[in-house]
Amino acid sequence: MSIPELFGINVFNDDSMQQYLPADVYASLQRTIAQGAVLDAHIAGQVADGMKNWAIERGATHFTHWFQPMTGITAEKHDSFLSIKNGKPILEFSGKELIKGEPDASSLPSGGIRATFEARGYTAWDPSSYAFVKDKTLCIPTAFCSFGGQALDKKTPLLRSMQALNKQAVRVLRLFGNKTVNRVTPTVGAEQEYFLVDSKLFNQREDLIITGRTLFGAKSPKGQELNDHYFGTIPQRVIEFMHELDEELWKLGVYAKTEHNETAPAQHELAPIFTTSNLAADQNQLTMAMMKQVARKHNMVCLLHEKPFANVNGSGKHNNWSLITDTGINLLEPGSSPAENAQFILFLVAVIKAVDEYQDLLRLSVASAGNDHRLGANEAPPAIMSIFLGDDLTAILEAFCRGNKMKTHKSTMHLGVDLLPDFQKDATDRNRTSPFAFTGNKFEFRMPGSEFSISEPNIVLNTCVAEVLKQFADELEKADDFNTSLNLLVARTVKKHKKILFSGNNYSTEWKEEAARRGLLNLASTDVAVPFLLNAKNVELFKRQEVFSLTELQSREEIMLTNYCQTIHIEAATMLDMAQKQIMPAIRKEMNDLSAFLINAPKLMAESAVNNTAQKHLFDTLVTLSSGFYTATERLKVLLSDCKADAAVSKEELSHVYRNNVLPAMKAVRDFADEAETIISKDAWPFPTYVDLLFSI
Ligand code: ADP
Ligand code: MG
Repeated sequence: MSIPELFGINVFNDDSMQQYLPADVYASLQRTIAQGAVLDAHIAGQVADGMKNWAIERGATHFTHWFQPMTGITAEKHDSFLSIKNGKPILEFSGKELIKGEPDASSLPSGGIRATFEARGYTAWDPSSYAFVKDKTLCIPTAFCSFGGQALDKKTPLLRSMQALNKQAVRVLRLFGNKTVNRVTPTVGAEQEYFLVDSKLFNQREDLIITGRTLFGAKSPKGQELNDHYFGTIPQRVIEFMHELDEELWKLGVYAKTEHNETAPAQHELAPIFTTSNLAADQNQLTMAMMKQVARKHNMVCLLHEKPFANVNGSGKHNNWSLITDTGINLLEPGSSPAENAQFILFLVAVIKAVDEYQDLLRLSVASAGNDHRLGANEAPPAIMSIFLGDDLTAILEAFCRGNKMKTHKSTMHLGVDLLPDFQKDATDRNRTSPFAFTGNKFEFRMPGSEFSISEPNIVLNTCVAEVLKQFADELEKADDFNTSLNLLVARTVKKHKKILFSGNNYSTEWKEEAARRGLLNLASTDVAVPFLLNAKNVELFKRQEVFSLTELQSREEIMLTNYCQTIHIEAATMLDMAQKQIMPAIRKEMNDLSAFLINAPKLMAESAVNNTAQKHLFDTLVTLSSGFYTATERLKVLLSDCKADAAVSKEELSHVYRNNVLPAMKAVRDFADEAETIISKDAWPFPTYVDLLFSI
C-alpha cells in the first residue's frame, strides 16, 4: 500500500465519517469538531453505530475509552462489543457508551480530589480527537473527570487552555481589523528522542527493567566524543524498526516525518508534522506506546527515560509551538505587510511577557525525577528559563525601546527597515542551547523530558499567553488611538521583560551568573520547582483563565511531589537489591579468585622470578572498595527506611529529604560499584556493561 493509502487507515477520520455516517449526522459532528461546540446528544447513537461498523471492518472486537490520567501515560479499560439480544449474540455500541464511560478508577492518582472509596470518575468523549483502532480495539479519546467535574487527567485542562487562548487571541485579531477569523488554535510538533537497546541485554538488568535507567555502569571507553553517531548511518536493525514504526504510526494518522540518529550512541529521534496541541498530545502518547511495542517485535527495548545512561546525552522532547487561525494564518510568522508585521510583533511580545512572568510554571511543567538528571547537565538547557530570538529580532525589539515606531496602516513601518528582514529563513544562527527558542515561525520549548506527556507544558504555555493577550486586549480595546497605544504597549512590555531574552550560550557558567544578576529563577530540581504551582499569582492565573481550580492545582502539586518521591524510592530500593545480591557477590568472587592465586603464589614464586605485588595490590584495592561499598549501601538502607511517608512530614519536606539525603547516598553507592566494575574481570561482572548496551545494535 502506498503511504497516502495507508495513512489514517485505522483512524475514524473525516473520510471514514463521511462514508459511515448519514449526511446530516456527519454535518452536525463536523460543526462540533470545527467549532469546538458541544456534541448534539441526539446524534450520539448514530455516530456510535457508524463508528462501530467501521471499527469492526478494521478488525476491532472491543472498544475502550482511551484517556490520560495524571500518571502521565494512557489508560484504557476494554469492553467487547458483544451483547445478547433475544438469546443471540450481537455486536452493539450505543451512543451512551460512546460519550460517557465510568471506569473503576480508584487506583489512578487523584491527589486527594476523589476519596478512593468513591472510586467512580467518568470519561467523556473528546470529538476533536479522532477515534482509532489499535490492537483490535476501538479507542475513543476521552477526558477523565470526577463526578464533581474536577479534572483528573491531562486532556481536560489542555482543552480548557486552548479555549482560553482562542478567546483572547480572537479579541486581539479583531483589534487589527480582522473580522474573518473565528478560531485560533495552538499547534504543536513534538520531536521525540529515545534509546534502543537489545532486549536480551535489557532483560539482564534489573535497573532497566524496574526503573527504565541504569543505576550502575562505568563510563565506556568510547562515548559520544567523536560525534560519529549523530546523523550517522542508521544500523539495519534500527532501520527496519523505524520503517515499521512509521507504518504503524501512519495507519494511526500520526504524521511521522523524520527519523534520524541522535547525539548519543544508540539514541534516535522521531519528528512528526505539527498539528493542534490536543491532537499532538494524543499522538505523542500513541507514538511513545508504538515505539515500545514495535521495538519489542525487533528484539529491542525502547527507553524513553530522560537519562538512561550517565555520561552520555539524555533524551528530551522538543515542543514546537505556534498559533494558527482557522483561515490558515500562522500568527508567529512575520507577515508581508506592515500591518501583519505589527500584529506579529504584538503576539511575539505577548509570548515574551508570558514566559518571563510565568518562568516558574514553565519550569515546573517539565519537572520530574528523570528530567532533573538532564536539565543543566551540559547537554540540555539549564533549569533557567530564557528566550532566544536571534540578533535581528532582538535588534528590532530594542529599537522600540528607543522610541522607534511601527504603523499598522499603509505607510511604511518605521523600524529602520521597511519590512522585517528575512531572518526567519536563516536557520544558521540557531541556538541549540536555549530552553525556548524562536525558530522563524514558532517557538521551540526544549526543556520537556522524553518521557513526559506534552500536555502540561502546553497547558501552561497556552494559559499564560492567553492571560497576557487578555491584558493587551483589555488595554487596546479602550485606546482612543490604536496606533499610539500599540506602540507604547510594545515598547513598555519589551523594556520590562527583555531580561528574559538571551542569545548566548545557555550551557556556560557565565550565563548562570548573569541570569542570577538579572533576577531570573533557577529552580534546579523538582522538589524546589513544584511548590511554585500554588503561588498566589499562579493560582489566580489558572482561576481567571478557567483552566484549573485551586483544588485541581493542589491535587496536581501533590501528585507531582509524590511521583518524585516514589520514583527515587523505587530507584534506591532497586539499587540496594542489585548491590547486595549481584555486585557484592561479584566483588567476593573476584576476591576469592585473587586469594586462591595469592595462597598459591609463594609456592610459584619459589620456582620463578615473578613476584605477586600486582595481584596483592589488586586484592587490597578490592578489600578497600568492598568495605566502602558496604558502608555506602548500609547508609542508603538507613536513609531510605527513614523516608517513610509520615503524617508529621509534608510532601514537600519529604521531597527535600529524597533530594538532599537519598540522591547523594545513591551516588556514593554507584561510585564504588562503578569503580569495582573497572577492575573486576568481565565474566565475574553480573550484568551487561555500558559497552554492551550502547554498542551492540
Ligand atoms: P528542525 O530544523 O529543527 O527539524 P522543523 O522546521 O523541521 O525544524 O520542525 C521541527 C518540528 O517543528 C516538527 O515537528 C514540525 O512539525 C514542527 N513545526 C513546524 N512548524 C510548526 C508550527 N507552525 N507549529 C508547531 N510546530 C511546528
Ligand atoms: Mg528541535
